[in-house]
Amino acid sequence: MSESATDTKTLCLFDVDGTLTAARQRVTPKMYEFLQRLRGRVRVGVVGGSDLDKIREQLGEDVVQKVDYVFAENGLVAYKNGQLLAVQSIQAHMGEELLQDFINFCLNYMAKIKLPRKRGTFIEFRNGMLNVCPVGRSCSQEERIEFYELDKKEQIRDKFVSVLREEFKGKGLAFSIGGQISFDVFPEGWDKRYCLGLLDSDGYSTIHFFGDKTNPGGNDYEIYADPRTIGHEVSSPEDTQRICEQLFFS
Ligand SMILES: [Mg+2]
Repeated sequence: MSESATDTKTLCLFDVDGTLTAARQRVTPKMYEFLQRLRGRVRVGVVGGSDLDKIREQLGEDVVQKVDYVFAENGLVAYKNGQLLAVQSIQAHMGEELLQDFINFCLNYMAKIKLPRKRGTFIEFRNGMLNVCPVGRSCSQEERIEFYELDKKEQIRDKFVSVLREEFKGKGLAFSIGGQISFDVFPEGWDKRYCLGLLDSDGYSTIHFFGDKTNPGGNDYEIYADPRTIGHEVSSPEDTQRICEQLFFS
């Protein structure tokens, strides 16, 4: 393939943290330059769980101009060719009726459990998810650890999520227990696969995905395993570049 031939039917999609950058760090000039070079060969997109501000912090203020697609919040905020393509939110998707039934049920459940301590912000409303926290997100660091230790013994979050799965069966909700004090609730499919739906009409024949958390439970697992992508597991940004060099420049 000559240097000028760009394959417009092939897209390379990259996770951000651990794939294009070290965790929570800025992209290196070397990687930035490499992405521009790669754009001479194929279309390039990034998909991250963070919001657009955080992705801009890591990949540069002008990232939406520098790659073909930016999918922030797994694609709930999507840019294509530097233009805003689509915005989605949990309230638009679920509707107020179901959303409120869910919030009310959670508040009622939490009102009935006794913990060593309760603080404030038991449900945090985010664009793409609800974060439910029995101890309250405004707890101190010591209170956080105290809850975490108790949760390990008594499976407070596990039990809560089991009850919710049963109560809201068939409503298209997914649950993820992460961190120490809370769990996330979001519509099924609103992991990184969400962005693939936005690419349907662009007619790519091949979509490569590169990510570092590709095992079950990792935030790249679903898109990595999806039949619509060719998944590549990477161990670092250097590894990402090495694999791309092999695929597109040798
Ligand atoms: Mg990652």
